[in-house]
Amino acid sequence: MASDLSVVNAARVSFARRKEAMDESDEGLIRFLMRDRHGTPFEHNAFRFHVRTPLFVAREWFRHRVGSFNEFSMRYARATDDFYVPEADDVRTQVGKPGAYSFDPVSPEVAETTREELRAVYEHAYATYERLVELGVARELARLAMPVGAYTEFYWTVNARSLMNFVSLRAAETAQREIRRYADAVELFFAERMPVTHAAFVSSGRVAP
Ligand SMILES: Cc1cc2nc3c(=O)[nH]c(=O)nc-3n(C[C@H](O)[C@H](O)[C@H](O)COP(=O)(O)OP(=O)(O)OC[C@H]3O[C@@H](n4cnc5c(N)ncnc54)[C@H](O)[C@@H]3O)c2cc1C
Repeated sequence: MASDLSVVNAARVSFARRKEAMDESDEGLIRFLMRDRHGTPFEHNAFRFHVRTPLFVAREWFRHRVGSFNEFSMRYARATDDFYVPEADDVRTQVGKPGAYSFDPVSPEVAETTREELRAVYEHAYATYERLVELGVARELARLAMPVGAYTEFYWTVNARSLMNFVSLRAAETAQREIRRYADAVELFFAERMPVTHAAFVSSGRVAP
């Protein structure tokens, strides 16, 4: 439900004009709208993503208020035994001050210990969860045993303007690596569906209009 043409037609309605296909002048129009931050023509389209992430990533994602979410419910359905264990290369240490951290690799031993410790916690947490459910405790309470590394899934429907804001913030160096990978994937779909808008976004310094 997203195309460069949706931007062009939203802008050209000001002059009671409508196009069926893009031409060069439309590409220039998109670049102008992006550069001068005329944001609303970028709102008349929609992307819908079906996302599977650990809870801590979902929590960051849900801070993006302009968009719609529906999420898997651990009140209604049984939690799955599905947890995020970072790859050894992704286990990192933080250096510097809050707001200006850099992240360095840890030794292979520390990386492996981290992965083992996480697996042990996940196993224990999920066993507790299952025991509580078997004892008859409501799922809405038994889920308190589930760590933020547990996977959830959700639908996210968002227009291009808000998507650019998400990509601008979450595909950036300053974002946590895990959500950054998802933001990179979101950007691939965006570039595929709206190539002219994506190119204009990149050349305008990756700031949402
Ligand atoms: C690197 C990083 C670190 C972060 N750290 C923290 C943290 O420590 N603590 C924390 O709480 N959050 C943190 N956040 C979340 C951040 O504060 C935002 O909530 C999140 O990035 C969503 O951005 P947004 O408000 O622009 O997006 P959206 O909520 O999608 O809003 C899109 C745009 O709509 C407009 N808008 C939406 N709501 C309002 C409103 N109420 N009033 C005026 N304008 C509005 C704004 O222009 C906004 O940019 C962090 C985010 C990043 C990227």
